[in-house]
Amino acid sequence: MTKKIVVIEGDDASPEAMQPTVEVISSLGLDIAWQYPVVGEDAIEKFGTPLPQETKDMIDASDSTLFGSTSGKTGAALGYLRWGRLTYANCRPTKYLPGYQSPLADPTGIDFVIVRENLEDLYLGIEGDVEGLANLGLRSRTARMPLAEYDGRYAIKVITEEGSTRIVRKAFELARARAAKGLSAKVTCTAKYNMLSYTDGLFRDCALKVAAENPDIEFETFIVDDFAHRLCARPQDFDVIVMPNLYGDILSDAAAGLVGGLGLAASGCYGDDYAYFESAHGTAPDIAGQNIINPTATLISAAMMLEYLDFNDASERLLQGIETMYADRLSLTPDQGGKASTTDFCRTLTDLISN
Ligand code: ATP
Repeated sequence: MTKKIVVIEGDDASPEAMQPTVEVISSLGLDIAWQYPVVGEDAIEKFGTPLPQETKDMIDASDSTLFGSTSGKTGAALGYLRWGRLTYANCRPTKYLPGYQSPLADPTGIDFVIVRENLEDLYLGIEGDVEGLANLGLRSRTARMPLAEYDGRYAIKVITEEGSTRIVRKAFELARARAAKGLSAKVTCTAKYNMLSYTDGLFRDCALKVAAENPDIEFETFIVDDFAHRLCARPQDFDVIVMPNLYGDILSDAAAGLVGGLGLAASGCYGDDYAYFESAHGTAPDIAGQNIINPTATLISAAMMLEYLDFNDASERLLQGIETMYADRLSLTPDQGGKASTTDFCRTLTDLISN
C-alpha cells in the first residue's frame, strides 16, 4: 500500500538538504506519495494561521513526516508533530563511520543512541517573573534569601511518572532491537538526580523500576555532569542512553561533535501511533543559499523513517550508500573536508544506490 509521507522543508538552509534527500529516496522506486502541506508564512498568507486545519489533517492522515529544521517560521508544525501527535521519544543516533572528520584520535566503534524525552521538562515553555510566584509560599532548599526577594525570572521543569516510564521503556525496547541485530545493548540513564532529587530523582526512580522489569539488559545510571565527562572520554562505552529533554538536547549536539559535527546528526521522534523524522541540527542560516549544507543528517533521518515504514531493504541500501560515500570520500561537503556541493553529494549517492 502507498505510504503517504508529509514533507515540511523547513527554513534557511534546510530545504537545500531536504529537496535532494527526497530525490534520493525517490530514486529507490518505493511506493511513496510525497505530500507538501502549506505551513508558516505561506499558510499565514493563505489561511491567516501558520498551521491551518488542512495541514493538521494531512499530517494525521499520513504515515510519517520528514521535517526540515525550523528557525520559527514553520515552528507551529513542529509543535503539532511533537505535542499534537505525542511523539515522546526523540532518538538521536551517533555512529562513527570511517571517513567522518572526527576530532578524536580514535573514534572507531562509537555507536550509541541518545533517547531524549521529548515532551516534558523545561520544554513546556512556562516562564515568568519571580514576583508572580511570591504568594505561593515556595521555599528554596538551598538559597537563604526568600524567593520574593529575587528580582528575576523562572522556568518550570515538569517531570512525570508516566512520561519518564514510557521513555525508559522505549530505551529498553531499542536496546532489545540492538541486541537482536548483534549490537551491544546496555541502557544508561542520566539526569541531575542529586541536585534535582524531586524531579530528576523521579526520572531515575522510574528508570530503576523499568530496569528491574528487564533484568536481562545491563543498566547503569550516572549524574549528568559525570556522564558528560564519560561521554567525551569514553564514548565507545555507551549503547542506549536515556535522559530528560534538556540534557538530551544539549548532549546529542555534543555527541555529534564527537564523530564529526552537526551535519551528521540524525533523529527520529516516535510516539505510540506516529513518528516524524528530522535532522538534529538547526537551519544553518550562515550557509543558506550556498548549496553546501551536508545532507547526511537528513538522509540518515530519512533512512530511519524508511525503517519505521518497513522499507527495511531500502533503508539499509541508503545507509550502506552513505557508508561508502565516506569510506571512499566521494563528493563530500566542506564541513567534512570535501569540496562538493550538496547537489553533488546527493547525485553521487543516487548513482551508488540505484545501481
Ligand atoms: P538550533 O538552535 O535550531 O538547533 P543552532 O543555533 O544550534 O540551531 P545550527 O543551525 O545547528 O545552529 O548550526 C550551528 C553550526 O553548524 C552553523 O555554523 C551551521 O552552519 C553548522 N551546521 C549545522 N548543520 C549543518 C549541516 N547539515 N551541514 C553543514 N553545517 C551545518
